[in-house]
Amino acid sequence: MRFCVLAVALLLALPAHADGFISRLLNKPVPGGVAVVDLGPAASAPSVTYQGKPVLVIHEDQQRWIAIVGIPLSVKPGVQQISVNNGQQLSFQVAGKHYSEQRITIKNQQQVTPNQDNLRRIERELAEQTRAYQQFSPRQPSNLLFDRPVNGPLSSPFGLRRFFNGEERNPHSGLDFAASKGTPIKAPAAGKVILVGDYFFNGRTVFLDHGQGLISMFCHLSAIDVKVGDDVARGGVVGKVGSTGRATGPHLHWNVSLNDARVDPAIFIGAFKP
Ligand SMILES: [Zn+2]
Repeated sequence: MRFCVLAVALLLALPAHADGFISRLLNKPVPGGVAVVDLGPAASAPSVTYQGKPVLVIHEDQQRWIAIVGIPLSVKPGVQQISVNNGQQLSFQVAGKHYSEQRITIKNQQQVTPNQDNLRRIERELAEQTRAYQQFSPRQPSNLLFDRPVNGPLSSPFGLRRFFNGEERNPHSGLDFAASKGTPIKAPAAGKVILVGDYFFNGRTVFLDHGQGLISMFCHLSAIDVKVGDDVARGGVVGKVGSTGRATGPHLHWNVSLNDARVDPAIFIGAFKP
């Protein structure tokens, strides 16, 4: 009780324009991070775009609208801008972040240097998955502080610069959890299943749309328990941990995407490390 009173007192002590809980939780403006931009009060939700793509906008503390912008890993530190449908351009500052290297040995050389047939397959699958990431549904995410999809410890962090058998490949686009084969994977927030597949790199995969471009992808699954079009409640099981696709052993790889930018999922579970 004393804690509650203290917490309320602290909230009241903040200046009027201060950022609320969601802003403080999610505002990690680095490459591969998230920028929360205050849009001020308005009668209805403003529409916002970043790099030409629609952006998640929510009402915070019943006071103001905020844009929650995914920053692609490829963005250089410096000033970035969003466009608001009232004609405003708003800026935010992206700080630098150091991402470490990871060296992985893969037995199947095709998963490091694929042949022409596999390259064609990879290209087709990439296009299919990119289309899923670019979907933008009007629903409000049920929660922005996500539940962990599995209970295992975090293993590989987001953004690692990866070398497979000594060759540099795309950086790590998600967050890995160590978990044994068959562990149920639970929806970190409510969502609609927009894509399932069995892909060359990602193995058995589920895409879950939480609303307004906030999309989770779970991959390397041993089993998929949902189909496209299913509405999954927060905590609902989407599949089971496995090692299908390019994986050295059973684990969950979880991507979180905002406005078609893959961002660090650790931000959404309060585990972000600067
Ligand atoms: Zn991974």
